[in-house]
Amino acid sequence: MQRTDKEQNFHKKTMMHEINVLIVEDELLIAQNLSRKLKRLGYQVLDIVSSGEAALKASAEKKPNLVLMDIVIKGEIDGIETATKIYRNYGIPVIYLTAYADDKTLQRAENTGSYGYVLKPFNERELHATIRMALQKHQQQVEILESLVTAEELSKNLQLSIQRAALKIGGSEQLVLENDLHFALENQELQVYYQPLVRLQDRQIVGAEALLRWQHPKRGMISPTTFIPIAEEAGIIGPIGEWILRKACAQAKSWQIRYPAPLKISVNLSVRQFNQEGLAKIVAQTLLETDLAPELLDLELTESLLVQDSMLVVRMIDELKSIGVQLAIDDFGTGYSSLSYLQHFPFDIVKIDRSFIRSITHNPGKIAIIQAIIRMAHGLNLKVIAEGVETEEELIFLCDNHCDLAQGYLFSPPVSAESFERFLLM
Ligand code: C2E
Ligand code: CA
Ligand code: CA
Repeated sequence: MQRTDKEQNFHKKTMMHEINVLIVEDELLIAQNLSRKLKRLGYQVLDIVSSGEAALKASAEKKPNLVLMDIVIKGEIDGIETATKIYRNYGIPVIYLTAYADDKTLQRAENTGSYGYVLKPFNERELHATIRMALQKHQQQVEILESLVTAEELSKNLQLSIQRAALKIGGSEQLVLENDLHFALENQELQVYYQPLVRLQDRQIVGAEALLRWQHPKRGMISPTTFIPIAEEAGIIGPIGEWILRKACAQAKSWQIRYPAPLKISVNLSVRQFNQEGLAKIVAQTLLETDLAPELLDLELTESLLVQDSMLVVRMIDELKSIGVQLAIDDFGTGYSSLSYLQHFPFDIVKIDRSFIRSITHNPGKIAIIQAIIRMAHGLNLKVIAEGVETEEELIFLCDNHCDLAQGYLFSPPVSAESFERFLLM
């Protein structure tokens, strides 16, 4: 069988046994036996530790290539929690060691994005195969994420030109729209539409994304992709953003009172809004006035915001989190996607952009990217929402790959509040 250069490098590296392993196991005899087997297979054993705390310390200091982690260990934090932290904080893949594989534990391990498990007592061949597979998988994920960073630059330029083309308006027409937009709020031309968010496990509607609509008196319905950039440039996104936030929170509260299951509401924040001082205060005040529990509000931010990486952004994110709202990273994969953003900012949700979902089942590249995103997000304890699900085939793929939630025309396009209530009665 022919190997690609990458595979050859990988093969060479694993054959040269440059792999440094940390063993986390509180039964010394088992740990020593494992260590002997690993050494016989040519791996370097950096250390053997027996608690989650010691494992975190050793991972930080010794930077192993791989951690072999007993699921049941003594101490404050168990194996799965320790593994999640090691992966989240240091990006080191973890393989679980387990005496028996009950479904519940394995499911929990799977949900944290583990790289596999080996059963005690360890069979050398199985051990070697599991380690090789885990390292290969990890390498692939790193490469996919690196390629996303390049792909996003291209996609960003493309998006800009599409936006300009789509606007199809010269400076003067833009000015007219801008002028009209100043009065849109006053004249009650803006509306909020809601698109259901469906939990894939049981196909229940568990939330709604609030999306702006502008019913222009002469031009008819204008898309938010057209008028939001204008509102941003004209410096009027602030009041528009506050308006939709209030409207959406009040709507969510009213649904909460009238229908049994609590619905979450998602509101988009634009970059300009985010750069406004006092945003967290506005959000807190709105929640107070509408009497909506903060955990029912998701705020969606795009990656372009994080690129700024300014102190203001960091502070704002912390302030918003301290209110108790949840933060989602929107359009994931199109912007400056990088694992580091997910690691460095306290997001709760990743929304995979619809360009990745479109005809996924026919595109092996997209399949690998989506699987990597879901795996990583779960490793970091984030929920994953797939956007723009249009076909049953896409839905089945997402269910099979443990995506948490989905949104798209397959379920419903964004609809008015009245129409949305029909779903709540179903
Ligand atoms: P977004 O946040 O990514 O919102 C999702 C968009 O995908 C919505 O477009 C929605 O109608 C569309 N969509 C949902 N399911 C499907 C599907 O199955 N297939 C396809 N092809 N499209 C689907 P919409 O409502 O036109 O909004 C476009 C963008 O405008 C939003 O993208 C968001 O970036 C922005 N936007 C909308 N409302 C607001 C707002 O209140 N504030 C801010 N800052 N931006 C907003
Ligand atoms: Ca959104
Ligand atoms: Ca989106």
